[in-house]
Amino acid sequence: MNVYDSNRIIDLVKSLGYSETKNHLESQCYILNTCHIREKASEKVYHEIGRVKKDFRGKNKPILIISGCVAQAEGEIILKKENYVDAVIGPQSYHKIPQIIKDIETTKIKRELTEFDTIEKFDILKKVSSTNTKISSYLTIQEGCDKFCKFCVVPYTRGPEYSRPFKEILDEAKNLISKGAKEIILLGQNVNAYNNEKKKLSNLIYELNDLKSLKRIRYTTSHPKDMTDDLIRAHGDCSKLMPILHLPVQSGSSKILEAMNRKHNIEQYLDVINKLKDARADIKFSSDFIIAYPGETQKDFEMTLKLVKDIKYINSYSFLYSKRPGTPSAELEEVKTKTAKERLIIFQNLSEEIKKEYKKNLLNKKSKVLIENKSKVKNKFFGRDEYANSVIVESSENMVGNIVDVIITNFNQNTLFAKLDSSKINNVAA
Ligand code: SAH
Ligand code: SF4
Repeated sequence: MNVYDSNRIIDLVKSLGYSETKNHLESQCYILNTCHIREKASEKVYHEIGRVKKDFRGKNKPILIISGCVAQAEGEIILKKENYVDAVIGPQSYHKIPQIIKDIETTKIKRELTEFDTIEKFDILKKVSSTNTKISSYLTIQEGCDKFCKFCVVPYTRGPEYSRPFKEILDEAKNLISKGAKEIILLGQNVNAYNNEKKKLSNLIYELNDLKSLKRIRYTTSHPKDMTDDLIRAHGDCSKLMPILHLPVQSGSSKILEAMNRKHNIEQYLDVINKLKDARADIKFSSDFIIAYPGETQKDFEMTLKLVKDIKYINSYSFLYSKRPGTPSAELEEVKTKTAKERLIIFQNLSEEIKKEYKKNLLNKKSKVLIENKSKVKNKFFGRDEYANSVIVESSENMVGNIVDVIITNFNQNTLFAKLDSSKINNVAA
């Protein structure tokens, strides 16, 4: 979502005559769009501020704005701690950035904007044309969260759940498609909680599925509790909806899920997985895991390992529990660091093994890849298969924007390598 937001910030500041630069040393305005989800993410912001100060020592000072969730959570502290920063702007106020830049240019007064003006933000954004359309484009449909998992800062930094109007989303989707998008990834902190005047995520998917020039649809991130039957049915009915779902579980132990206030247990989670498999037999899953949540015993941890083995996630994103100030779990006693780190290594080794096995099975098999761009290396193109795996395809022809039939020839930790399927006369797939 920060990628989507950053693109929209670039669209907004164009009205002032600013444009994106690839060389940060020549920037006149520096906007750090930040993440607060784990401690490491917010530490990076202070490092980055230090780097900007160093890079511009003895030169004209750029305007420095901190936007995003660290700005929301630590606004005043940042302004006090770092005199170099001109403004802090939370994720629901970034539509005001052009005005703030104008103010800074003229008055140099420091500003803090951390209101939750989500409706106003999208009202303004819909009038600003998007100039960052990619073959695979993000589209935010929902923001914020009312679930209050005990470890999580999102309800405090992104604010309450808000779903954008249905028509506004369809208009933005059609606009992206008219500018060349072939894949749309619908975004939300709780994307499947989308609900605007009784229109749900499934309604949106059915509508998008009927748009002729659109080839692929994905959505992320979903909460297991909001995987309703209508949405599960859409996975069976809509051929453009890709057969991979990111469905974070966090832990394999129902006891820990309850302690986290996740609002689902493992039985309910497995029930959703099974229903999805019934709706679409080739569906696969990825997930997020928090390792060593306060109170996690060896037995709880082993249940997480068992779940990973049973589901065979094709991607598992695992994080050590990170205490976030202001969240209820920050009061709890933590698992010893040594034990926590050992568990993370065991977990990551297992998930890597499963991923490797999955990729090995893809060797010499056919796949359909949406080519997103040309790589710097001659005759090599970057794209993604239906399961969102990164694929490098060799081709002498420019195939950007097409879905091509390929055969997987090799893989490494993050990438699959492929050649065009010579059995197809014309490799451009339907
Ligand atoms: N809304 C999504 C997740 C959003 S946050 C959901 O409910 O699943 C993205 C991921 O960051 C979470 O899935 C979780 O695994 C991780 N995360 C959030 N807070 C964390 C914390 N305090 N410590 C470690 N990981 C955390
Ligand atoms: Fe955070 Fe997701 Fe829980 Fe909301 S549902 S509190 S975003 S982990």
